[in-house]
Order: sequence, then C-alpha cells, then structure tokens
Amino acid sequence: MSTAFEVLPRDLSSYRRGNTGIDYVHRFESGHAGPHVLVNALTHGNEFCGMVAACHLLDNAVRPRCGTLTVSFANVAAYESFDPAQPLKSRQLEHNLNRIWSSEWLDGPQDSAELRRARELRPAVAAADHVLDLHSTSSDVQPFWVYRRFGRNAIAAQAIGRPRVHLVMPLGLSPGTPLIVHGRFAEQNFHGVSLVAECGGHFRQASADLAVDVALDFLAHFGLIERARTPQPPAERYELLRTVVVQTPDWRFARPVIGFETFAGGELIASDGDIEIRAPDDGCTILMPTRVPKVGNEGVYLARLLAEPATN
Ligand SMILES: [Zn+2]
Repeated sequence: MSTAFEVLPRDLSSYRRGNTGIDYVHRFESGHAGPHVLVNALTHGNEFCGMVAACHLLDNAVRPRCGTLTVSFANVAAYESFDPAQPLKSRQLEHNLNRIWSSEWLDGPQDSAELRRARELRPAVAAADHVLDLHSTSSDVQPFWVYRRFGRNAIAAQAIGRPRVHLVMPLGLSPGTPLIVHGRFAEQNFHGVSLVAECGGHFRQASADLAVDVALDFLAHFGLIERARTPQPPAERYELLRTVVVQTPDWRFARPVIGFETFAGGELIASDGDIEIRAPDDGCTILMPTRVPKVGNEGVYLARLLAEPATN
C-alpha cells in the first residue's frame, strides 16, 4: 500500500501542559453565559486532521465570546507511535479509544493506555454541553458526519452544513461506546449535541483543511465565535442498518471497495470464511470498509439512504 503523507505528525509537547489538570486539554472561559463546547482531536492516533484543527484553535488564540471552549488532544500516546511504514497502526495502542466510553469500561478493572487516557479525559467530556470529535477515514472518501439518531444532532449537523453527508447511528448499532455517546450524550432528553466529523482520508491536507473549517463552524453554530457561513445544499443522510464484525481471518470483499459503493438486494459484499455478507435490500450502501481485517473489529457498515429530512 502506498500512502501519500500530505500531513505528518508535529511535536505536540508544547501543548501538553494545559490549564485543566489534564495533559493536552486546554480550556478558555469567556466569563459570559453560554454553552461549553469541546473540540476533540486524535481519538485515533493516526487521524491528523483533528490535530491540525486543535493546533489551529490554540495557535490562533481562538477564544469564545460567550460560554466555554475546551480543546483536547486525546490519544497522544498512539499518535506519538506513528511509523510511516505502518501508517494505520498508530490508530491505537491497545484499545480503540472510541469504543470504551461506557461506565462498564471506565469503571471496570481492565487497564490499557487507552483506558487510562479515557479515565483522565472523562471529566472533560462530561463537562461539555456540545462535543465535536474530529476523525479521518482510511480511504479517500467524501467526508461525513456520524451521530446517534437524535433530532438535536441531525439539526445541528444540517445547520453547520458541511460535511454534507450524514451517517445516522440508531441506538444499539454502534459497537462499543463511542466518545460521542458518553454519559448524558446517550440520553434522549439531554440538550447536548455530539458529532463525529469524518473529514476525509488520513494524512490528506484537504482533510486537515476541512477539520479546521468544521471546528470553526461548530463553534460559530453555538455562538462561541462569529464566522460567515457558506450556504450548503441539503444533507444526504444514510442510516446504519448493520455493523458487520469480522469473525474469521479469511475476510475478503467481493470487489475492491473504498466506501459509498451501493449493492443490490442479495448481492455479495464480502465473505468471511464460510460466512457471506450480502446486501439486505437494493440500494445498500457500504461505509468504512476495513483495510486491515481483524477478528473482532468492524469489517464494514451497511447503510441505506434516508428520504426524510434531517430533523430526527
Ligand atoms: Zn477515527
């Protein structure tokens, strides 16, 4: 696999000492009433777009005119393990930091670099009203939002406007507990918006540029900064139907895929040993096909286009 590295890791040591008592977490209070917004980078260590956006906010001294802004770099330990010869490996050290945000894991007996970091970051996530978690994808596909199916998330993602594509996760279909559904963010009646922005392929300058724009637009949406907005077309929304987890070491896609391919009802998407993964219906769209199949990890997400507008 050849990878073009348009964005490479920077030395983040100067960002280590924040003002919250948690390494790599910086908080700015406006002194005026308003929401507390968290912009989080590097939940996955090799997803540099978020790092660029977080550095942009800090280096340009972006300060909230109301409410509170917190900027965090999550899995810096994995980020620092980046090896260009194995660019996907520094996603995580032991655990996927985006699957362990339940009290079962956070209060549980297990230990790992990611669990320790999640336990450190927990008060910063729990303190926020609204969370933006910046990610990138292993293939160069169009950027998209990912969120739990709550109207508040859909409306905010639509209003912010870019990315234009939404992946809506119904309750119970996410493997593990992602950061954006930690604690109150999983509650139907909580007011807080929590969104993942998948900003494009790892290591791409365009992904980093989009992450900066999405972060600034997110802050503007909640009134923390003033920013002119570019009108965007209506969202294209996909609803997750199924998360297919790899069961055997013999996972193979039926044809080369990068994501957003559409399959006819019954068409073979992948085989996993003797297991066949077929499209449940016409127009089944696949997202985030794995490039490194690993037993127990997500192999592919099956989704369908939603006709209804982004209100729920
Ligand atoms: Zn990610």
